[in-house]
Amino acid sequence: MSDHVDKCVECGAKCCRYFCFQIDDPEEYSAFEDIRWFLCHEGISVHIDEDGDWYICIENRCKYVGSDNRCMIYEERPIICRQYDVDGCDFTGGDYRYQKLFTTPEQIEAYAREQLGPHGFDGPRTRARRRIERKQQAKARGRRKRRGK
Ligand code: SF4
Ligand code: SF4
Repeated sequence: MSDHVDKCVECGAKCCRYFCFQIDDPEEYSAFEDIRWFLCHEGISVHIDEDGDWYICIENRCKYVGSDNRCMIYEERPIICRQYDVDGCDFTGGDYRYQKLFTTPEQIEAYAREQLGPHGFDGPRTRARRRIERKQQAKARGRRKRRGK
């Protein structure tokens, strides 16, 4: 067995238990609000990496990690798994160095307030909420009309 496989078994196959992908940098209230919604879910985190790029991570174990922490489809594993190098991975390289890590909706809300200021945060939020309420009220009025009430 290679050194690499030894390390992977020892680490408990950390990198096979989540996946991350890049998301657009949020620039306005609505984009931060989407991230706030992501973070309302279990097992979700969002981070800004050292280059300033934004990523969402989803904790979800790959169905092919065996109980011995080995890949059960090693010979047929996806390209992305083949490209991930044990040198400098999250186990051998230490923790990822994030600029920022968000694990709760409160954290991203506080960050958005800080970045957008009250003008960019509270104003758009109030307008968005009112817009939705008005739409829902109009829909309810339409339904009542059709029923002749
Ligand atoms: S590549 Fe790194 S994080 Fe992934 S299983 Fe191997 S040692 Fe663990
Ligand atoms: S396919 Fe294998 S190497 Fe790839 S994430 Fe799943 S268990 Fe890990």
